Amino acid sequence: MSTRRKGGPRTKHVAQRTCVGCREVLPKRTLMRVVRSPQGLQLDPTGKAPGRGAYLHDRRSCWERALAGALAPALRTELTADDRERMRAILASFPVEESDTARGT
Ligand SMILES: [Zn+2]
Repeated sequence: MSTRRKGGPRTKHVAQRTCVGCREVLPKRTLMRVVRSPQGLQLDPTGKAPGRGAYLHDRRSCWERALAGALAPALRTELTADDRERMRAILASFPVEESDTARGT
């Protein structure tokens, strides 16, 4: 599947990734990467760690959604209690969003 586009004179290919929380597709570097390592799930700040990775916004809602659903299948693994705890600790470091408190729809 090629997504190469003709058009702009200087369209450089930008790697696109899908946030496993909200399914938004964005340039890779705007998302955080979580990687499945032998030690369990870990945040990969460099984006270069080996292993299967998943991408997420640095938003609580995305992490919560991902933890509840798409993260484990995206990583082809099951989340251990330890993994969840670690992911929750990361999530807790993000600022609280307004939409978190005004969740209605
Ligand atoms: Zn997201």
